[in-house]
Amino acid sequence: MKPICPSCHSAHVIENIDTSTQGLTEQVLSPKLLIGLGMSVCKYYKINPMIGMVAGSALATVINLAQQRLMQPPLIRAAILPRYLCRTCQHTFSV
Ligand SMILES: [Zn+2]
Repeated sequence: MKPICPSCHSAHVIENIDTSTQGLTEQVLSPKLLIGLGMSVCKYYKINPMIGMVAGSALATVINLAQQRLMQPPLIRAAILPRYLCRTCQHTFSV
């Protein structure tokens, strides 16, 4: 069943799931990537890669905690709910 715009009651509604920002954050701040980054930095400066691994995972933990604090319940709900965009009046809504 297609949703109908609550603003103008038009059926010209497209699904508008905005995952671009979320996906980018996960990609950039993934613990795996940070550990890898720490290790390659240490390799480059000829430091024990273990130090880089530890530093990378510590940084990942800090970022994870910061993200959890920043994420307020309404924001999480908005990210999970499917979003729809009305092509008639450009109104964005969720069902
Ligand atoms: Zn509309």
